Amino acid sequence: MRERRIALLGATGSIGRQALDVIASNPDLSVCALASGSQSLDRLAAELDVEHAQVGGDVVDLLEASEPDLVLNAVVGFTGVGATLWALERGVTLALANKESLVAAGDLAMTAWRRGGGLLLPVDSEHSALHQCLDGHSPQTVESIVLTASGGPFRNRSADELESVTVEEALAHPTWSMGPKITIDSATLANKGLELIEAHFLFGIEYERIEVVVHPTSVVHALVRFRDGATLAHLGHPDMRVPISFALTYPDRRVTSVTSLDFSAGLTLEFERPDTERFPLLALAREAGERGGTYPCAFNAANEIAVAAFLDGRIRFTEIAALVEEALAAVDGAPASDLGELVEADEQARSAAERRLAPAA
Ligand code: NAD
Ligand code: MG
Repeated sequence: MRERRIALLGATGSIGRQALDVIASNPDLSVCALASGSQSLDRLAAELDVEHAQVGGDVVDLLEASEPDLVLNAVVGFTGVGATLWALERGVTLALANKESLVAAGDLAMTAWRRGGGLLLPVDSEHSALHQCLDGHSPQTVESIVLTASGGPFRNRSADELESVTVEEALAHPTWSMGPKITIDSATLANKGLELIEAHFLFGIEYERIEVVVHPTSVVHALVRFRDGATLAHLGHPDMRVPISFALTYPDRRVTSVTSLDFSAGLTLEFERPDTERFPLLALAREAGERGGTYPCAFNAANEIAVAAFLDGRIRFTEIAALVEEALAAVDGAPASDLGELVEADEQARSAAERRLAPAA
């Protein structure tokens, strides 16, 4: 593999720091640009001898100036849309952790991807697993795909108990260690809803052929059912350095610091149906995805507002879903023909969610 110069967006986050580990152990990977939301990058840029570093603001200028071979988009939230579209449009390899950008801008991103003709490599563990299970198989042999969900810390809480769960409890994820926003999304199952929409766009599969199952230990990352009755699964310890390494070194498969599973120690795999009564955000995401247009964008925007409000102590855990449902009912979901219209749809949904927050504040 020839040397790969990486623009690392979201360098100070959970994915960003693990990516730095992966980059450090592969001499042909280097960092040519760093971006963060608000944390200083001075020390990191000096350590890595990186000329292009930016805190906040629009990353497009940074990308233009640094001319990366690969963009790792590991920022959190809708703010990642610009970098996703930039890389796809130009055919620059995109390693995508920022699922919100594909959920919000799915149609625009797919058009940009077709025009740019570059590689789009998912970093999200389920989608990396699906990419690997689907590799080399023709689409007409695929019957359905299955995303696994840990079920989060509240898998066994009753609807009543969910009313009073705290921020601290919601931030204690049972299997993955991640940034705060995705950790709350995992507790509400909004994360799996976002991933459902992400999978639809990435693999071009209709929603009715994408199943979600709860699998508490997160050992099986995803499965693909084929028409002959066979199912392929991807298994491993839940450690993001594996999918990060796969995306950064694709099509190679490099050594990582993660060991493979030890089956002699015993391994029991459990699966169950997700409960969309207690976790309505999964069903709301599916509905938003099926309706199409800017409904997925609105789902994401309202969810971002609701999660921030929960983390700030302004609403209860169960109000996250209620807020998203109300915001979705208030928007028109009309398709966006360009980034300007998408930003408007995002703002419309944010305002709808914020209006509903105001009386409670
Ligand atoms: P995090 O909160 O730990 O880190 C987010 C990073 O984004 C930080 O470096 C922050 O400074 C940066 N950022 C925020 N706003 C920015 C802006 N405007 N410009 C540039 N940088 C900005 O989040 P995370 O857990 O690392 O997740 C990052 C993304 O990856 C999310 O979309 C998440 O859903 C996805 N993801 C994360 C994991 C995981 O294990 N953490 C797994 C799958 C997918
Ligand atoms: Mg995931």
